[in-house]
Amino acid sequence: MNYLILSILAALFLSSIVILIISLRRNAKDAVPVGSMVYGDLHSKGTTMRSRTYGLSGKPDMVVRSGRNLIPYEYKNTDSLKPREGHLVQMGAYFLILEDLNPGMKVPYGIIKYRNSAFRVPNSSQLRGKVLYVTQLIRNNVGEPARNHENPMKCMPCSFREMCAQSLIIVQK
Ligand code: SF4
Repeated sequence: MNYLILSILAALFLSSIVILIISLRRNAKDAVPVGSMVYGDLHSKGTTMRSRTYGLSGKPDMVVRSGRNLIPYEYKNTDSLKPREGHLVQMGAYFLILEDLNPGMKVPYGIIKYRNSAFRVPNSSQLRGKVLYVTQLIRNNVGEPARNHENPMKCMPCSFREMCAQSLIIVQK
C-alpha cells in the first residue's frame, strides 16, 4: 500500500509479530462475502467513503451487506501467503470508516483477497488501536519517518492521504 505507513509499522511492530489479528486462510472460491453488494464499482461509481470523525478516506473494492453486518472486501493483484501489514491497516481504516458512516450496523470482519489466497480479518480492538495510533503519528508528522517514494499513485488510494503532510496529491475537500 504505502511505504510511509509500512516504515512506521516496521519500526513500531517488528518485534511483535504476535498475531494481533487472527487471520484465517480460506479458499479463493469462497472469498467473496455472501450478501448484497452495497458499495463497489457498479454501485458507487468510484465514490470515496469519508469519515469526518477520523479524517480517514477509502475506496474498498466492495462492501457486502449481510443482515445487520457490513463486510468490506479488498482484492490485491499480487500473491501472498499471509496478510501484509499495510493491507491490514488499510482494512482497519475501512472498518472505522464504515462504522462511522453506518451507525447501528456491525462490521465484524473484512476479506483481503490475494491472487493465491484469501484472509478473513477480524475487526479487533487491537487493529482499531493500531490504525488510530498510525493516524495520530501521521497527523502529527514533522517529517519523520520520511516518505520513501515519489509516486503519487501510491498516495491516491491511501486512507491517510487527507491528513498526511507528506502526501503527493492535493485532496479536494
Ligand atoms: S498519503 Fe502518501 S506519503 Fe502519506 S502515508 Fe499515504 S502513501 Fe504515504
